[in-house]
Amino acid sequence: KELFQISVPSAKERTFIAVKPDGVQRRLVGQVIHRFERRGFKLVGLKLLQVSKNLLSQHYCQLTKKPFYPDLVEYMTSGPVVAMVWEGPNIVQTCRMMVGHTNPAEAHAGTIRADFSLHVSRNVVHASDSLEGAQREIMLWFDGHDLLKWDCIDQSVTSEL
Ligand code: GDP
Ligand code: MG
Repeated sequence: KELFQISVPSAKERTFIAVKPDGVQRRLVGQVIHRFERRGFKLVGLKLLQVSKNLLSQHYCQLTKKPFYPDLVEYMTSGPVVAMVWEGPNIVQTCRMMVGHTNPAEAHAGTIRADFSLHVSRNVVHASDSLEGAQREIMLWFDGHDLLKWDCIDQSVTSEL
């Protein structure tokens, strides 16, 4: 429902994106970042971290009862994750479209998951699925003072301000 609401896009909207351990292992961090950069979005937070089971259970609190949850924990804690916050108009919905369907087999060509992955259990990247989800995830993964307010010099030509 969220996706079809008509609203004025805020250039300050933020979303949480993560390159999952398979993406880091496969050296896809640069390619993932490149897609959001070339679209015109602004990076406002970035870190490489080893995720704890505690953080993961909060991040995926709606999934803890799913049969695949133990595998998801093993996957997401198997190596470093690159956690990011990106900013721009309508960014939550746009990044979901750029990331593609949860199951790469159903993702459209040109999306990150379709272009770089084959299986739902190794789908390279995470993107928040709603404004509320994004706010919750950003607060969970980042301290406020690690998110930077800065002016991108091309902002006046990439977005209507
Ligand atoms: P997302 O928002 O598109 O990432 O999808 P979900 O929030 O529904 O699920 C979170 C993550 O759990 C997905 O990105 C997958 O990595 C994993 N996942 C979801 N469904 C399945 C499944 O059926 N099997 C397995 N093994 N993993 C799944
Ligand atoms: Mg999700």
